[in-house]
Amino acid sequence: MGASSSKSKKNTAGNKKNLTSGNKLSVLIVDDDPIIQKIHKALLNKFGLETHVVENGKEAVDLCRSGACFDLILMDMEMPIMDGPKATRELRAMEVNSMIVGVTSRGLDSEKQAFMAAGLDDCHEKPLTADAVTSLVQELVKNQ
Ligand SMILES: [Mg+2]
Repeated sequence: MGASSSKSKKNTAGNKKNLTSGNKLSVLIVDDDPIIQKIHKALLNKFGLETHVVENGKEAVDLCRSGACFDLILMDMEMPIMDGPKATRELRAMEVNSMIVGVTSRGLDSEKQAFMAAGLDDCHEKPLTADAVTSLVQELVKNQ
């Protein structure tokens, strides 16, 4: 932890930089489906959140390893190269403390539980609804 880590933001670790500008809440969208990427980006932007999109778990891990940080990471479950559960485990092992919310289109309870156990804060059906985003934003503001 550097000298600048006294701010209350959970995921600041001294030299970590926020990829998005200003003091808007920032979201990393991790999804291999271009339509979901587009829907989630538009929805989050409508709520005033800054967004950055990558298409698999490895890109998310590499980005965070390079020093980027986000208030929220929206993590798809099934992706090529590195899936959501594996990426979430790696991020938590790297001590990334951002809120990580899983998004899944398939509803198997056992899969969702395994995904949660990888280190998620929450899990939602995708595509996200405006109501789901509202409650996520409220949670983020509370944790700020
Ligand atoms: Mg997928």
